[in-house]
Amino acid sequence: MAWTYDPTNIFARILRGEIPNKTVVETEHTLAFHDIYPQAPVHVLVIPKGPYVCFDHFAAEASDAEIADFHRVAARVCAETGVSPGADGHGYRTISNAGMNGVQEVPHYHLHILGGRMLGRMLQ
Ligand code: IMP
Repeated sequence: MAWTYDPTNIFARILRGEIPNKTVVETEHTLAFHDIYPQAPVHVLVIPKGPYVCFDHFAAEASDAEIADFHRVAARVCAETGVSPGADGHGYRTISNAGMNGVQEVPHYHLHILGGRMLGRMLQ
């Protein structure tokens, strides 16, 4: 599969330090920051630092180290924001929109972590 990554997208600009962000966790391979238009009391975006367009691009082409780090950071976000059910939080939802049908706005892979309120049933 030939993926085309647009380096002018807003998350690429955040990673280059051209736009500020409210960082929650940062590691060598991954950045997690607060969504600018939060849909819930906790709304954090987790992004790899590498140039991946969406979930399947990342899962197919990122290194094992990048993939492991991404998920460890997501888990740290759940713990540090207090939404993890395992830490007496009340739970959360992860979402990753991809492409046109997924209504993905920013073409840099990201995982939304939403929590802090009852999110309602999504799939029926
Ligand atoms: P998508 O529809 O899954 O691509 O979601 C993109 C998300 O990025 C939306 O929830 C936006 O609110 C969020 N967003 C866009 N620009 C910024 C920014 O500069 N900082 C933080 N979040 C942003």
